[in-house]
Amino acid sequence: MNIQNLVRANIRALQPYSSARDEFTGNGEVFLDANENPFETEVNRYPDPYQRAIKENLAPIKAVRPAQIFLGNGSDEAIDLIIRIFCEPGKEKIIISDPSYGMYQVSAGINNIEVIKVPLSENFEFIAENMLKEADENTKVAFLCSPNNPSGNALDSAEVEKFIQSFEGIVVVDEAYIDFSSSKSFTEKLEIYPNLIVMQTFSKAWGMAGLRLGMAFASEEIIGLINKVKPPYNINILTQKAALEALSNEDKVKAEIELILQQKDWLQKEFTELPVTEHIFPSDSNFLLVKFKDAKGLFDYLIAKEIIVRDRRKVRFGDNCLRITVGTPEENKKLIAAIKNYQP
Ligand SMILES: *Cc1c(COP(=O)(O)O)cnc(C)c1O
Repeated sequence: MNIQNLVRANIRALQPYSSARDEFTGNGEVFLDANENPFETEVNRYPDPYQRAIKENLAPIKAVRPAQIFLGNGSDEAIDLIIRIFCEPGKEKIIISDPSYGMYQVSAGINNIEVIKVPLSENFEFIAENMLKEADENTKVAFLCSPNNPSGNALDSAEVEKFIQSFEGIVVVDEAYIDFSSSKSFTEKLEIYPNLIVMQTFSKAWGMAGLRLGMAFASEEIIGLINKVKPPYNINILTQKAALEALSNEDKVKAEIELILQQKDWLQKEFTELPVTEHIFPSDSNFLLVKFKDAKGLFDYLIAKEIIVRDRRKVRFGDNCLRITVGTPEENKKLIAAIKNYQP
């Protein structure tokens, strides 16, 4: 597959902005090249445009090379850049499964890109053939979310792989919840599939949603394209410092993931025994999608108790469903105690 043929002509021809920190990367003693204020604070210098220190530490954790990593201002930045690199506004399309994460459609809409939505099965399972059938020659990018938000389940790996093999465009596998899943990351397939981009994030398991730091992993060629289009200094110095520190303390995150998974099991067991529960969908994530007898009544009741969950009744197959993030043990106890007191 020739990736350059998938790229918009204007992006292929683009001469990227060359920053001071692009033009000189060695060790200097006196930096008079970027019109910064010379008086030292934590933030008086421009940040590393390519976040080299983070990538060096992240690469071994993810078993990729630093040049296969893009870091963005949240995954949202990666989604937007991928759409802008590969899809011609007003002409080309993306394809997504439904229900799925809402940002793919919003980002496509902002860029004037049509969205083809292909329903998952009623159990939120992904069937490659169904999506392949709907894609046409103008469909440049597919977004698959695994584990899927809002359903929580990991998509069948064999079906996802079959899709990557057969789709004649870029396939983005959004793995925002992979750290909670027993499924393997598709990062290990990057060498086999030149059209594959895997997205992950520091917002969920890593506990840094407030930083805004997303990751994309792909071939060096695709990462090169994203680097060409991204704003030069897209990750600020404070975020880079915080991420480096977090990467040196991976054990803390692993322990938190363990606890969250135990708490998820506990919540699952509790919900099973509650009379208001209709069905609990299987979850490979840090949240549960639960179908209730009367989701609206329960949702309003919980808000009155200042317990906020996500109303997902309007999404496809989400009838009477609420999406509930696993909290701390205390928070989860509060939630279950409140529901036990609920009088429908
Ligand atoms: C939460 C989430 C993200 C994370 O987005 P950020 O911009 O990195 O915070 C990405 N994809 C999905 C499916 C999510 O649920």
